[in-house]
Amino acid sequence: MAVSDLLPVLHELGTGPAQSDLDKCVHCGLCLNACPTYRQLGVEMDSPRGRIYQMNAVKNGAPVTPEYIQHLDLCLACRGCETACPSGVPYGRLIEGARAALEKQRPRSLSNRLFRRFIFRGLLPSRTALQIAGAGLYAYQASGLQKLVRSSGILNIWSKLAGIEALSPTAQVPFFYNKIGRTFPPLGERRYRVAFLAGCIANITFARLNEATVRVLQQNGCEVVIPAAQNCCGALHLHSGLAEEAQKLARNNIDAIEGGNFDAIITNAAGCGSTLKEYDELLAGDVAYRDKAIRFTSLMKDVTEFLASIDLNPNMGSLDAVVTYQDSCHLAHGQKIKDAPRKLLKQVPGITYREMPKADICCGSAGVYNIVQNEMAMDILRSKMASVSLTKASVIATANPGCMLQLEAGARLYGAGQRVAHVVEVLDEAYRSQVSSTKETPALGSTV
Ligand code: SF4
Ligand code: SF4
Repeated sequence: MAVSDLLPVLHELGTGPAQSDLDKCVHCGLCLNACPTYRQLGVEMDSPRGRIYQMNAVKNGAPVTPEYIQHLDLCLACRGCETACPSGVPYGRLIEGARAALEKQRPRSLSNRLFRRFIFRGLLPSRTALQIAGAGLYAYQASGLQKLVRSSGILNIWSKLAGIEALSPTAQVPFFYNKIGRTFPPLGERRYRVAFLAGCIANITFARLNEATVRVLQQNGCEVVIPAAQNCCGALHLHSGLAEEAQKLARNNIDAIEGGNFDAIITNAAGCGSTLKEYDELLAGDVAYRDKAIRFTSLMKDVTEFLASIDLNPNMGSLDAVVTYQDSCHLAHGQKIKDAPRKLLKQVPGITYREMPKADICCGSAGVYNIVQNEMAMDILRSKMASVSLTKASVIATANPGCMLQLEAGARLYGAGQRVAHVVEVLDEAYRSQVSSTKETPALGSTV
């Protein structure tokens, strides 16, 4: 994307969606059926077209009403509408712009402001704070307190709390933080040198997924560097209208990989990847970082995208399972990657792959949406699990940690207890089953 294309966006960052982007909508309605909230509610103002109409009105002087805020809050920012739109309306940019502007005017209680400050400025950007929170979560879960709280029925006093608690992730010890700053050698001849961005919360709650990602990359001839100075990608900040905080985090991540001479920068989280690939947009107005951001973005790859683009090491054992795939919105709609994860799954020996209907409709996860809009998220999830059950799959594969949590809750609450796995975990299992028969173990944990 040329920088000149981005100037209207930059100019209007924080002042609402760009008028030039809003004007691309011709109100045809072809996006309506791709919108999970419209599918659930059938309400025009909760459809992409309706939201664009409201953004346009506010941009042109209409007052910000509680109804406007509510319709925007109910949007998952899944960008299903962006894929469906034949006119190229950049809906993701529109909703981010609208939320950034709203953030400046929205009335918030003191406790809400303090809570947000703690999450976005205190917790997510700080490795120390995340590790302390992770240790607390681990103690709560490992001590049996979580079981006790769940069985006591205390959560049912407020049904919303029970729904949110059901989505809480498991702290996985050891945390992946002990691998940050290290380099892992390829198995066999070196084909690529890659940087792995491990996320923020994922280092605590998806530590095993991160390890599996490193092992699969090693299996495919990658020297994997986990840059020491990396931090949160800023996606949650950006989706919550905190563009300046997101820019700060983006600069840190760019500095963390500068001079590393990498063939690719890898993430296993589609939600993060979508934002990481937009650092060029985010920093297009920053003279000092603009070119570095363009270089960074050009190297950024989702792990499934990277693996599907190379000659995959076929040395896998057989896995006997029926597998279906749920598109992660930020991969399918944000990054336009739909074939890569399916191609990888179909390359695993023994797997029977079955496509579910409407696999590219959001599962209701959407960052923290399933917490802040729990009721709608659960309604969407119920519909999703009905699609899954049609495939009779025992494994639901996906490509984003947030979707994994949501689908795990879906399998437990509305499904048949299906197993949920990231695509790289499926590959890792196939490699490990082959490795265990040949005793050739990849050197995960070694330091170069
Ligand atoms: S981003 Fe998703 S929820 Fe929001 S309007 Fe588009 S399709 Fe609907
Ligand atoms: S966003 Fe696109 S598909 Fe939806 S109404 Fe506007 S032009 Fe039509």
